[in-house]
Amino acid sequence: MAEPVYLDNAATTPVDPRVFEAMRAFWLEDWGNPSSVYAVGRRARRALDNARDRCAQVLNCRANEIIFTGCGSESDNLAIKGSAMALAEQRGWKHLVTSRVEHHAVLHACEWLEKHQGFEISYVEVDHHGRVDPAEVAAAVRPDTAVVSIMYANNEVGTIEPVSEIARVVKATNPHTVVHTDAVQAGGLMPLDVQALGVDSLALSGHKFYAPKGVGLLYLRRGTPLVHLLSGGGQERGIRAGTENVAYIVGMTVALELAYAEQAERVAHVSRLRDQLIEGILASIDGAQLTGHPTQRMPNSASFAIEGADGESLLLNLDQEGIYASSGSACTSGTLEISHVLCALGLPETQARGSLRLTTGVRTTEADVARLLEVLPAIVARVREVTPSLVG
Ligand SMILES: *Cc1c(COP(=O)(O)O)cnc(C)c1O
Repeated sequence: MAEPVYLDNAATTPVDPRVFEAMRAFWLEDWGNPSSVYAVGRRARRALDNARDRCAQVLNCRANEIIFTGCGSESDNLAIKGSAMALAEQRGWKHLVTSRVEHHAVLHACEWLEKHQGFEISYVEVDHHGRVDPAEVAAAVRPDTAVVSIMYANNEVGTIEPVSEIARVVKATNPHTVVHTDAVQAGGLMPLDVQALGVDSLALSGHKFYAPKGVGLLYLRRGTPLVHLLSGGGQERGIRAGTENVAYIVGMTVALELAYAEQAERVAHVSRLRDQLIEGILASIDGAQLTGHPTQRMPNSASFAIEGADGESLLLNLDQEGIYASSGSACTSGTLEISHVLCALGLPETQARGSLRLTTGVRTTEADVARLLEVLPAIVARVREVTPSLVG
């Protein structure tokens, strides 16, 4: 059997061997607790401080504006819940603005605030390409809006949102509203200069750019109101208690630096293969359409709605051929619910059910793309045959 073909780099990425090597020493040699005063602890502390400085360099911010976390979801939760509850306390503000296409880490954090803290949520709609209109965000902002959270790039359809424009219009409407962005998909491929983006907080996750799963960071602009969710020791300036995961933080830092040192080559590579996927699929499969924005999309993302084909069946058939792909976040897997993102784009159900997401990465090859293009037409035909009720 041939090597498996991995076309799901938006779900996670393999650890870069250079990242793995950089982490080694923090298990085997410099394994101390960064809060300890003796040498092995001091070495861990130096590595942690150094990692923070280097992440800050990439994001163009101060080192003390970086908070290391356990994942992208934690970063989103800390930013949204933390700032929302701080503004509720300080000003009595209990209103949130977000979009219909956010990751569940954002949507469910907002819903949690609605359910447990009495917040009200306004959802801005997206166009059929998944784009948020900054004017609609501005129109949704009220004098009591605590947090606006709009993602940088969508994980299902790859659409890039006009985040800097959104930040600008929100601040012009209510300068005290906190603007958060979930940049987890954008991290590693898109510019991350937080001054240019103009946001107050930004979430990243290491495993989306060749660091291990289980480490993330939050950029938090100095002066941004935030209550702390995780109580304990004084780690991360008291914002996020818990002994720091030094090895993973170092790994994420190295991965972040490599991503931006190699950004031009990586973007050229993944977008060339993505374009081959898009052109090949649209040419060979009738009733396939690109979902998401035609140009304002992530360089690694090719996503489709395939009329009359069931997405789950496509994935199972591809898996049998050793090809790993993804469908829309079929919400909680196993349910028949269709993706909230494809619903928000206004796709009819017969199309939304046939969603297929292919995301390229630094290790993807032309042979991988050719293999997918070789087997997909027959798989689509077979799947359509067994799901006749869905054919339009
Ligand atoms: C993967 C992802 C997350 C969650 O990150 P984890 O580190 O897996 O918690 C959040 N938002 C987006 C857009 C993502 O793609």
